[in-house]
Amino acid sequence: MRNQIFLTAVIVVFSLLQEQTLADDNSTQSNISSVPSLLEKLYISAGVIDEFKKFIGAHGGEVIEGLSKVKTYLQHYGYIPDTTKNFTDTFDEMLVSAIKSYQKFYNTEQTGQLDMKTIAHMILPRCGNRDVGDQTSSSSSSRPSSHVHSVGHYEYFPNNPRWDKLALTFAFLPENRLSENYKKTIVRAFSRWTDVTPLTFTQIESYNEADIKIAFYSGDHGDGGPFDGPLGQLAHAFEPPDGMFHFDSDENWEVEGEPLKLPSRVVTAIDLESVAVHEIGHLLGLGHSTDKESVMYATLPTSARKVLLKRDDIAGIQSIYGANTKTPRPDSPPNDGGDVFSGTSNVVPPFCLPVWMVVVALVNNIFL
Ligand SMILES: [Zn+2]
Ligand SMILES: [Zn+2]
Repeated sequence: MRNQIFLTAVIVVFSLLQEQTLADDNSTQSNISSVPSLLEKLYISAGVIDEFKKFIGAHGGEVIEGLSKVKTYLQHYGYIPDTTKNFTDTFDEMLVSAIKSYQKFYNTEQTGQLDMKTIAHMILPRCGNRDVGDQTSSSSSSRPSSHVHSVGHYEYFPNNPRWDKLALTFAFLPENRLSENYKKTIVRAFSRWTDVTPLTFTQIESYNEADIKIAFYSGDHGDGGPFDGPLGQLAHAFEPPDGMFHFDSDENWEVEGEPLKLPSRVVTAIDLESVAVHEIGHLLGLGHSTDKESVMYATLPTSARKVLLKRDDIAGIQSIYGANTKTPRPDSPPNDGGDVFSGTSNVVPPFCLPVWMVVVALVNNIFL
């Protein structure tokens, strides 16, 4: 049944994409900015769709123009060593191997092919950190990385870096001029972790002196992990004791009390607190978890809110810093491994959604 739903969903998605491509071809002089494209409605960035949809069904031995971009994507997330350069468009053994590793990490069948399920997962919004540490140059790479060492579902960074103190400071980049609503949201995300560890986080004014430096950037911002506009990569954060904590300022961030930059019917809103809770896990030493219910899973369902730490997250962080020995706050959220979705502030019941939104919801729900 799930397979039937998935196949139907994907067929509808790509049929709609095809229709839109034809429509665009017939109206090249139209005022595109006044009419949101179907791709925008689909909540998936056009660039990513265009790069990936033509590879569905591709398999070993084929040569397909642009296939090198899939290799670049997989290299970015740690499935191909950084030392490998000058990718070709040939579906070679290296790509087959990288796809199998990707499929293994996400607990799907290791076909080594770019089947629909694999492509559908690749186009989801996600954290910009690697899933797996680069086997050849992780220690020298400037890019935010993730795990090598696995215990259970949660993961550590290479060499298990951790803070050597429990009282950490953080500061916001002054140039961002964040509103109090943004700051409060990120502070609340820190509290999710203080509730289950001995750690404390104190805001200070000096950005340069803070242990954790929080900033919103657009595109290339000089740390080897350029952002990519709406959706795709949402944020990234560096391992201890680096402390760099970056959000993609081009996202349509949803923050309580703040208007969206764009209507959510045009570009999906991404819940800031959900992403912040995830990235703080990286700042403290956790990599990506293979448990899709956990906060440390790399992808986030569009328009979803995922802020409660799950058992896997708590086990991971407590294996590094121990349990909370502080007096619990009276308003502590139930960070006890309860339901992963604590709220659905911007999730509209499916029966209220246009068909194309239901299709995307189906795809997301099946794979996340
Ligand atoms: Zn991440
Ligand atoms: Zn960055």
